[in-house]
Amino acid sequence: MKPHYINHQWVESAASCPNINPSDINDRIDDYGWANRDAVDQAVAAANNAFPAWGKVSIQTRADALDQIGSELIQRRAELADLLAREEGKVLAEASAEVLRAGQIFKFFAGEALRMGGQLIASVRPGCEVEVLREPMGVIGLISPWNFPIAIPAWKIAPALAYGNCVVFKPSELAPGCAWALTEIISRAGLPAGVFNLVMGAGADVGQALIESDQINAISFTGSVATGKRIAQAAMQRLTKVQLEMGGKNPLVVLDDAHLETAVNCAVNGAYFSAGQRCTASSRLIVTKNIYKAFVEALINRLRELSIGDARASGSDIGPVVDQQQLDKDLRYIALGQKEGARLVFGGDRLKRETDGYYLNPALFIDADNTMRIAREEIFGPVACIIPADNYEHALEIANDSDFGLSAGICTTTLKTAMHFKRNAQAGMVMVNLPTAGVDYHVPFGGTKASSYGPREQGAQAIEFFTRTKTAYTAD
Ligand code: NAD
Repeated sequence: MKPHYINHQWVESAASCPNINPSDINDRIDDYGWANRDAVDQAVAAANNAFPAWGKVSIQTRADALDQIGSELIQRRAELADLLAREEGKVLAEASAEVLRAGQIFKFFAGEALRMGGQLIASVRPGCEVEVLREPMGVIGLISPWNFPIAIPAWKIAPALAYGNCVVFKPSELAPGCAWALTEIISRAGLPAGVFNLVMGAGADVGQALIESDQINAISFTGSVATGKRIAQAAMQRLTKVQLEMGGKNPLVVLDDAHLETAVNCAVNGAYFSAGQRCTASSRLIVTKNIYKAFVEALINRLRELSIGDARASGSDIGPVVDQQQLDKDLRYIALGQKEGARLVFGGDRLKRETDGYYLNPALFIDADNTMRIAREEIFGPVACIIPADNYEHALEIANDSDFGLSAGICTTTLKTAMHFKRNAQAGMVMVNLPTAGVDYHVPFGGTKASSYGPREQGAQAIEFFTRTKTAYTAD
């Protein structure tokens, strides 16, 4: 059994949970510890004990540790990508890109640790100066989902440590393998005992214990809106600072003047890669009249060419969905879309492969309406719908008519329209002639409306969440 990591010790729990390969459900990767509330309390206590010293340690020490973690992630990229593909079902090329990104994030925040500055502001009072200082928050609870099992932990852990915080990390129960491998690397980076802790287990148990703890100072969460709301309520009870990154129903607008091949590439990548299991997936394709027919035909032709298979097999473009529950959910929505009156023109059926995995043929609906549930609710699978629009203004209106606001894309060759869309799309991230998914690692990430709550993650702006501000006045 792979143990938890608490106070620099590997700690076994009475219970454990198997980690199953979604490409082959007969492949049991390993068993991972399944903690209870006591383990969470121990981890939180260890982090609190470690914090006073860690918060004051030299920034060079923090930067060196992060740099070492980043280097090892990059060196072990192939091995970790194989584990990621095996436990989550992302194909190897995507898994490898994700591991590289995780390493780059640690290296980026190694640099940011050295730039943890404040501001010196002239006072309105003569002989007085004002400093706006940045201080670490203290102990931070980090809760991550399964769909980016190494990059999301990296973009939470790296800034937390860079700015002098201690961490209790609870990964998704569906993908503990990458979290454990990352922990093993962190455990050798020379951090003092208690600075970083890993507790694995159920959200309703371990996650809930963490968010209900009075001994943590902030919670950074990525996952579904339903869980995010629960976390926000628990955090508000204790006035704990909280950062929530949640779902999306991201529009990709394709205009008559779009370059057809670019638009199809954006749609295939954005809607179907990673089996559509990305918060930034382009699940709504909003297409104007004159290009509609050509776009639908070209997209169907591309979908026919895709190979759906074992995530670790060379030649697979798309792997399985993550588990039986997600597969059932996808199939329910595919049936619902047909009932709602959208036309299923490709896929949507379960596929049989040599191994017994959760393979789903990418589903494409056309002639959908933005009021349909398949156009409004996050499905989180390889299911996209095409919604017709009269013109750009109509397409923008449809794009913005959503409870979510994470990423929004447009394919057009008119600069003026692109500029207008960038300024008027209600989303935290806007893409022009690019898929809605696929972002840089060194810039802010996040959305508006139900997609995000609290300060942005990633990039230099991550400091907002992972530090608190102190204003100091000094008179001569
Ligand atoms: P989820 O909400 O089911 O679980 C996320 C994490 O929360 C897991 O670690 C889970 O154990 C934990 N959790 C569950 N209940 C809890 C509770 N009561 N208290 C504390 N923790 C609890 O989400 P998921 O299925 O793992 O991930 C998919 C979702 O994540 C999708 O909605 C997707 O859009 C979203 N996501 C968002 C982003 C983003 O940055 N916006 C990125 C990736 C995924």
